[in-house]
Amino acid sequence: MAQASQKVRVRFAPSPTGYLHVGGARTALYNYLYAKHTGGEFILRVEDTDLERSTEESMRMQIADLKWLGLNWDEGPNPETIQDMGPHGPYRQSQRKQIYMEHAERLVKAGKAYYDFRTDEELDKIKEAAIAAGRSPQVGPPAVIPTPEEAKKRIANGEPGAIRFRVSEVRDYVLHDLVRGDVTFPSDMVGDFVCIRSNGMPVYNFCCVIDDAMMKITHVFRAEEHLSNTLRQMMLYEAFGYETPRFGHLSFILGPDRQKLSKRHGATSCNDYRLKGYLPEALNNFILLSGWSSPKGQEVMTREEMIEQFTYERFNAAPAVFDTVKLDWMNATYLRALPHEELWARIQPFLKQAGLEFPMAESAEWRDQALTLFKSYMTTLADAEKLFLPLADSKYEIGEAAAEVFTWAETPKVLNAWKEELQKFPGDRISEPEFNAIQDRVKVAAGAKGKQLFQPIRVAVIGQPQGQELKILVPLLPKSSLIARAEKALAKTR
Ligand code: GLU
Repeated sequence: MAQASQKVRVRFAPSPTGYLHVGGARTALYNYLYAKHTGGEFILRVEDTDLERSTEESMRMQIADLKWLGLNWDEGPNPETIQDMGPHGPYRQSQRKQIYMEHAERLVKAGKAYYDFRTDEELDKIKEAAIAAGRSPQVGPPAVIPTPEEAKKRIANGEPGAIRFRVSEVRDYVLHDLVRGDVTFPSDMVGDFVCIRSNGMPVYNFCCVIDDAMMKITHVFRAEEHLSNTLRQMMLYEAFGYETPRFGHLSFILGPDRQKLSKRHGATSCNDYRLKGYLPEALNNFILLSGWSSPKGQEVMTREEMIEQFTYERFNAAPAVFDTVKLDWMNATYLRALPHEELWARIQPFLKQAGLEFPMAESAEWRDQALTLFKSYMTTLADAEKLFLPLADSKYEIGEAAAEVFTWAETPKVLNAWKEELQKFPGDRISEPEFNAIQDRVKVAAGAKGKQLFQPIRVAVIGQPQGQELKILVPLLPKSSLIARAEKALAKTR
């Protein structure tokens, strides 16, 4: 067991088989915060031994997601070059095959593992017989275990042979889990298990132990689904004589229907949330609270506060429910607190994607005014698209819904009066009180009131009889745009 005086070293060990899931991001965040809280080190290890499912592209995507979340690692693949960074590499399991093989050989030599040349059919028969006899379908050693020399010869002759760990003792293993408390595993829960497959590929449980030991990992915080792997891992630590790290198995994250969070619940990858306009700091804060709570009862926390307060005593062993309403609240809170220049920079990719451009955006005063008005309507950065859309001249068009407005007798009068008022207006931008005064004058000049007054003006500003409030939009549009739009609307009356 890790000593209290040791420098804390924790790791995040994703399998690169897709985007980073929010559950993975939570594991990474907790390990990161624990390292920072204790002045320890955070390591990123890529568990890519599953050759069929792991891809280089997924690894790069996950690295990009971790960077986006700001969870920087001290050792692991360099986030830019992917080259090893740190003294305990390689940090990608696919590059450590030699290390695993040497370790497996060491166990074989010590009689703690053996080469197994039984075929799948033979092993199936053994399992079936065990089930028929009312035992669990576990595999024990073959009647005759080949000597290491003999095994080497058979392998050299092309015979496929696995290396299997020998579970020799029947007793209980007790895990002092930092989240779940003591968990007892009877050793006969598992049979002799494979360390190296007959195709030469090592299995997860084996690699994980060797890597955690060689990378001097002191604490492992990982998903609860790995709890059942821990027995095999404890056996391996013991067999190698390596110190066992302390484990903490994090609670499941459930969807609102209390089923394990999965794709059918909608967005589950960090990338989904990034594209939907969530802020990394809000997502971090939200996932922090999905399985952990602040000893001070805080909800919105700075990175420094998270680091300062992060201890494993505050993990919640009960499953966390992924509450998207809370995530939205958290995101809106962070978004509205951003300085406007920062918020402006962050909405740029969304505005660009929607093809929105504004000559007025050159003015810091305009940006500030627009964001002051719009940000209270924003939950995500993507919401900027629909808020800013009516301000883009290139997107102004008179919609179908406006057809009725053009059947009213008052409409040409209102539009003419509106255009005249605009032309007479001395400045370039109209304030809210000025707009109210203009509307009053149009009312008198055109002899229109109620919807016959307001809807034509609306159409002349946003192209629709319904939509965002004009007292918000008009002050953000330059007079020249308002006149050009009024002319387009007037053209429809002729
Ligand atoms: N590669 C494993 C996963 O992505 C992590 C295993 C571990 O943390 O021990 O689930």
